[in-house]
Amino acid sequence: MNASVDPVITLEHVSRRYGAKVALGDVTLSIPRGGVLGLVGANGAGKTTLIKHILGLLRAQEGRVRIFGFNPVTEQVAVLQRLGYVSEDRDLPPWITVGELLRYIRSFYPAWDPDYAERLRQQLQLVATARIRTLSKGELAKAALLVALAHRPELLVLDEPSSGLDPLVRRELLEAVVRAVAEEGRTVLFSSHLLDEVARVSDRVAMLTAGRLVLHGELDAIMESHRRIVVRLKQSEPAPPRLPGTISLTGGPEEWTVICDGNVDPFIRGLRQDGGEVLEDTDATFEEIFHAYAATPTRT
Ligand code: ATP
Repeated sequence: MNASVDPVITLEHVSRRYGAKVALGDVTLSIPRGGVLGLVGANGAGKTTLIKHILGLLRAQEGRVRIFGFNPVTEQVAVLQRLGYVSEDRDLPPWITVGELLRYIRSFYPAWDPDYAERLRQQLQLVATARIRTLSKGELAKAALLVALAHRPELLVLDEPSSGLDPLVRRELLEAVVRAVAEEGRTVLFSSHLLDEVARVSDRVAMLTAGRLVLHGELDAIMESHRRIVVRLKQSEPAPPRLPGTISLTGGPEEWTVICDGNVDPFIRGLRQDGGEVLEDTDATFEEIFHAYAATPTRT
């Protein structure tokens, strides 16, 4: 296996249902090594379910999951040796100190580098003798990150790392620490509701809507290809405009706002020939793109 070329995470047609509810529906996704992937989606879109499949906490009911080429359910040790994880609730034992926690975790990792762990503790400004139960929310988030990072995982998975944190700590954690991890050639996957944060930190994004992967790719390419266009149709036009790659369409009956992904130039030429007008034509913001896909589970 060629480690530098093979994807770190591969999901092929992965589905998971809870009764009639589709938590993940036919998700196919391949994440290359290195960089930060921002996983976005509304509440209940399937982000945590997807993360649980990556960690081997859930077995795919259909489809196939591979992490570093390993099956995370049957080869969980091989996967967990290479992976650091911070859950949304950051469950750490409350009675032990930061230093004791590091010593405990060290026992699981033969290649543990104590100098690196110590540097990281200092960088995160955590006091070794402080007990977990005495830490503030921000410090607790840092301690969870310290635990996840100290064994130098090749893949760092963070489920909602910023929830409940103030903007200063968020910047410190995500922009400083997470970017640094990615710059060392390692891979970070983090889920978040904070779209500005995702847009600032991510190299790639993946978006789930009702369990479906509706968008995935390099952030720059996504931002470049999506446009927000406001058109006014000629008065007698009976139907909404049919722009190629329309993701969402609002307004009407004469003035429409369209978020689209595709070459719309031929459409615009035709519209003008028919007496219609383009009132606005701008790049869509990440937030507009997100809301367009969140409103429409499948593309038109
Ligand atoms: P949030 O942003 O609110 O954390 P999410 O995108 O992480 O949401 P998931 O937690 O993955 O979403 O849930 C996806 C869907 O699956 C939701 O509708 C949820 O109610 C459902 N679900 C998740 N776990 C279970 C379970 N154990 N039993 C039944 N339904 C579940």
